[in-house]
Amino acid sequence: MHQPAASTPGHPVAPPATKTAHAPPARLLEQSRPPGAPRRTADTQDQDKPDREERFYLCRACRHPVTSAANRTERGGSFTHTVFNPYGVLFEIGTFTSAQGCSGTGPYVPDFTWFPSCSWRIGQCAGCGAHLGWHFHCKSGDAFWGLILPNLVVTGGGEGE
Ligand SMILES: [Zn+2]
Repeated sequence: MHQPAASTPGHPVAPPATKTAHAPPARLLEQSRPPGAPRRTADTQDQDKPDREERFYLCRACRHPVTSAANRTERGGSFTHTVFNPYGVLFEIGTFTSAQGCSGTGPYVPDFTWFPSCSWRIGQCAGCGAHLGWHFHCKSGDAFWGLILPNLVVTGGGEGE
């Protein structure tokens, strides 16, 4: 009786079942994003990402943060210096431009200095008062710290002990 109306215009093929019957309403999907979520600002995020982990130097006695590797500097072409005090005691010191966790005490002494025309005074840990090194003040106007490396611990970029 009925011939399959294969090519009858105006008689669309039935839609393939109910494919979207169980899909959630579109409005629910939109609401799944929490209101007030911070907008991503891709432009400013990369600037704060440090290329390398910063290492911090802590007081070995009390772990007070003394300075960071970013403050390392060279004097006489080297960061580390092996020096003797007038009593023959050997120190291995490193030179730093600044050391926020170290406080200089006493007057500057021009004698027995390890850096020509630089006076020194004692530097103590701001946390526990341990002797951490010396602050040098030079006639040239240069100023820097010489910190006793064995009295410090390095952290932040992998323990170097
Ligand atoms: Zn300390």
